[in-house]
Formats: sequence, structure tokens, C-alpha cells
Amino acid sequence: MTASVRDMPGPVLVVAAHPDDIEVHCGGTVATLVAQGVAVTCVLCTSGNRGTSDPEMTSEQLGTLREQEQRAAAEVLGVTDIRFLRHDDGDLAFVAPLLREELVRLIREVRPPTIITHDPYPGDGGQDSCSIYPDHLTVGGATFQAAYLCAPGPLFYPEHLRAGLEPFKPSLIYLTMSAHPDFFVDITAQWPVKLRAIQMHRSQGRHTPENDREMERIARENGQRAGVELAEAFRLLRPT
Ligand SMILES: [Zn+2]
Repeated sequence: MTASVRDMPGPVLVVAAHPDDIEVHCGGTVATLVAQGVAVTCVLCTSGNRGTSDPEMTSEQLGTLREQEQRAAAEVLGVTDIRFLRHDDGDLAFVAPLLREELVRLIREVRPPTIITHDPYPGDGGQDSCSIYPDHLTVGGATFQAAYLCAPGPLFYPEHLRAGLEPFKPSLIYLTMSAHPDFFVDITAQWPVKLRAIQMHRSQGRHTPENDREMERIARENGQRAGVELAEAFRLLRPT
């Protein structure tokens, strides 16, 4: 179904594994939400501190650099509320219990009817499944559990309640990188903004003409499925 961001009531919480995930997979949607006055909070579970093939680079330097790139990209999208959880890149599966607690706390604080995160379900084992990096699966799973199971339940993390946070249940979860998308957002009007935000991630080679072309190819493919020029694709879950 082609839908508009009117189906994404705010505030919206976007939870991603790495710097550049948000811009690549839902940057046009986020830019559209912000342009319409919807509050958006972006959460980066890692600072991408191992995403390099340069043996001279340290993880501290890279994490700092990628946070700078992420802040610059968020500024392009118009997002001002950005949180870094600073777990190590590639290790999220090993900190899943802590990650889930952090996400529950954020959901109870921000109280977002709408969450955007990675699809926790791997693809069909084909080549495209290789793009579903383990951190993405962990973030998708932890966020889904946090939103669906834990944040609404007062017996999960009662210390949050003692600290003044109330239980909260998000009503819509939009999953990016899904093998089975069923919800498409027309991002044609925000395409230049999305591309400029992606280009801020220079350490990942996201500023090259080749990357521009690849991003446009994906957006056009999604657009064809949605009957518009350029689109982003999601799978929509409604926790009941
Ligand atoms: Zn990623």
C-alpha cells in the first residue's frame, strides 16, 4: 500500500544499529515527518566504531568521526533529538538484555505512537539476506520486544516507574530492510534532502556518484512498487 506519513503519528522514535542506517533506509520519510512538524527522536545503538578496513584507524577515532557524520546528516534531515547508546559495532547480540532495557526506558520517556526500526526477521536466505547484518536483527528484535512486550508492562523494569516513567504501548511499528515490505512512503519531494544526508557519511563511501546511483536505483524500485517516482519501503506491524 502507498501511504503518507499521516499514518505515522508523532512523536516518532527511530531506532537504528549504525550511523547511515536511518538516512539510507528511511531518510526521506524522516525528512517528510520533520517538514510536517512531527517530533522525531533518532537512536543509534552503536556509533559504527568498527566499520572500516583501514588498519591505522582506531575504534575510538572511528566512533567519534561517525557520530560527527551522523549529527551532520541529522541536521540535514532537520532532526534535533539524537541519542547515541555507544555499544560496540558488531556486538549488539551480546548486549541484547541491556539494549532492551535502554530501549524500554526511551519508549517510556519519548512515548512514541510510531516506531521505525529494522526488520528482525531474516530474509529468505538469498543474496539479499546478506544485507541483513546481525546488528540489524538484534536491534529489530530488541526494539520489537521493548515496544510490544516490555514498555507497556509495569512489572518490566519497575525501577523506571519508581523514577517517574509510566508504562507506554506504541501502536505502530514500521520495519525497514524488510524482505516483505507492504507500506511505501512517497519520498520524491524529499529526495534531494535524503541524498544530501546520506552523503554526510563519507567514512562509508556514501558521498560518491556510484553510491548516489545505487540509492536512486533502490528508491526507483520501491517507487515502481508503490506507483510513485521514488519511495521508501516498510513492513507495518500493529501490536495488539
Ligand atoms: Zn547498519
